[in-house]
Amino acid sequence: MQTRQSDEVETTCPYCGVGCGVLAKVAADGAICVRGDPEHPANFGKLCSKGLALSETMARDGRVLHPEIAGERVEWNTALDLVARNFADTIAQHGPDAVAFYISGQLLTEDYYVANKLMKGFIGSGNIDTNSRLCMASSVAGHRRAFGEDIVPGLYDDFDEADLIVLTGSNAAWCHPILYQRMLTARRVRGTKIIVIDPRRTATADESDLHLPLDPGTDVLLFNGLLAHLARVGAMNESYVAKHTSGFEAAISLALADAPSSEAVALGCGLPVADVRLFYDLFAATERAVTVYSQGVNQSAHGTDKVNAIINCHLATGSIGKPGAGPFSVTGQPNAMGGREVGGLANQLAAHMGFENGEDVDRVARFWRARNMARTSGLKAVDMFRAVGDGRVRAIWIMGTNPAVSMPDSSRVRAALKRCDFVVVSDVVRTDTTRFADVLLPAAAWGEKDGTVTNSERRLSRQRPFVPTPAEVRADWRIICDVASRMGFADAFEYADPAAIFREHASLSAFENNGARLFNLGALAAISNGDYETFGPRHWPQPNERPDDARLLAGGRFQTPDGRARFIPVRQEGVAQPANSAFPLALNTGRLRDQWHTMTRTGLVPRLMANAPSPVVELHSRDAAENEMDEGDLAYLATPYGFARAKVRINDGQKPGQVFLPIHWSGQYAVNAGTGPLASPVTDPFSGQPELKHVPLRLRRE
Ligand code: SF4
Repeated sequence: MQTRQSDEVETTCPYCGVGCGVLAKVAADGAICVRGDPEHPANFGKLCSKGLALSETMARDGRVLHPEIAGERVEWNTALDLVARNFADTIAQHGPDAVAFYISGQLLTEDYYVANKLMKGFIGSGNIDTNSRLCMASSVAGHRRAFGEDIVPGLYDDFDEADLIVLTGSNAAWCHPILYQRMLTARRVRGTKIIVIDPRRTATADESDLHLPLDPGTDVLLFNGLLAHLARVGAMNESYVAKHTSGFEAAISLALADAPSSEAVALGCGLPVADVRLFYDLFAATERAVTVYSQGVNQSAHGTDKVNAIINCHLATGSIGKPGAGPFSVTGQPNAMGGREVGGLANQLAAHMGFENGEDVDRVARFWRARNMARTSGLKAVDMFRAVGDGRVRAIWIMGTNPAVSMPDSSRVRAALKRCDFVVVSDVVRTDTTRFADVLLPAAAWGEKDGTVTNSERRLSRQRPFVPTPAEVRADWRIICDVASRMGFADAFEYADPAAIFREHASLSAFENNGARLFNLGALAAISNGDYETFGPRHWPQPNERPDDARLLAGGRFQTPDGRARFIPVRQEGVAQPANSAFPLALNTGRLRDQWHTMTRTGLVPRLMANAPSPVVELHSRDAAENEMDEGDLAYLATPYGFARAKVRINDGQKPGQVFLPIHWSGQYAVNAGTGPLASPVTDPFSGQPELKHVPLRLRRE
């Protein structure tokens, strides 16, 4: 593979949490050329179909190219003055909790950092949440419960070194394709076994050695059964459990009560008992086992419990942070991890600190010299839009995301935005959400943006500009700082460039840290602009004791008060809203191989649209027959929240009674076609993540 050329810019793919390195350049004829970076350790030169089409998504069609107020073009100063004035007036009249920011895993870490600082340290509210809430908030909550800090212990290298990879709630073949290729290579090279746990027979399951199509919502039962099995057959690492963990007795007694035998698990999960036993025996016999989990686990009313049920099994075998072994949460978005690091969730503070600890709040306030420090968590995504709807939040700023389509119960979200006193949207292109903007601000796009992202294995990479930013378009961090200055906080938001913000972020992570948190970028706190410019992809944090191995938690010391990891006792609870006589089917949702979010980029590329040019709902043939439907018929789908239409595709990879609809379609492509109008806003009590993988549904031929 051709090595990097001097005219190519090293940057990072903006689509998913794999974080593939990309080399980009503008050729002499003006054409944009993009290829995989052969030296980037996340992808070694490979790109999936979406990454390969990046150059075709950079057209200016649909771009927001100048600020607008009520749809009319205005000067930047006019727009910024209005935003700052309306936010300040709302805060003065109704308090800081009457305003909110809803941001995005598309933002770079530097953008995220200043947005979080403005809301939590200067406006004085925790009301900043991100669309990553819909993606991986349950993993964050599960990590914090078990490890005391939101830490992903493993690395992608573990996929090369594992003898068993268990993918649960992850269609990696479509959603993290480059990682999945790596797993298949491990199978070819070292005979790694791949087990897929997913109600659907997906492309990932097609390639697996064993597919466990469990019934929706039964993951805790399956992993409680695994924990009980490990204890029964003597496959636990008892010295590890004794030395490095707490809470085992409570967890195992609940697991045994929940899952007394493999037969009981098989019955409860709707699986053949022989397959359950095969999974349990393989896990018990394999020292190097990685459990990869993604949205199928996280997007649940009990997602945090599911995450902890998985982590419990790895604690029992002592397989945390070891080569080829450990629980591994894979994120959906390119910078969900960077957002977590700066505290871009309503219930977190920067640098892995939290509101539950008053000393953390004081520490961050001291570092920021905060004018008005938030003392409590703010509204999480679903609650935030409820608060917009009922008038508790009167001004909202939405950055780089499309909640009018992507939020569950999106009809209610649209009604809330319509009713809201003041809506600001900063984005790259016009979307369903920009229609609600009182003020629309043009933000820089991929190829223009400059900053850092963190991928699923905690590897920091740079996104670098390689095309000129249109004249009236600004970087997100610049727009946020411009508003902050106009609100009277200029001295705290005077950054010359993204490198200056990165230095402050790194300094905060080290401020009064002394090992209290693993997340510590202190060694980068004085990075020069030159070094920031040439910054190559690297893992962070690095454990001090093993600088050549970036795996974390291997030493068995955790960020809890007693230094021990916590087993969390969890009980099988099932889905929040089972199918019923009015809605006899269950809707599952997910992504397609060639599409991204609400298609605002990938929808521009004909070859990416070719596989699924219109919304398709997948049904088992039995359900199609019972509802008198054939392949290609138009189906009317209804849930307790709304309705949508899609063409029928018959696929016996669905279990009977379960229906699958992709998340992507929005008002730009079809009216009421995506999952937003249908999806349930019921959330996990710990993470606030909505149950997007299950809602009762009925359908009929249109
Ligand atoms: Fe981009 Fe993800 Fe595909 Fe890599 S796997 S090219 S990061 S979409």
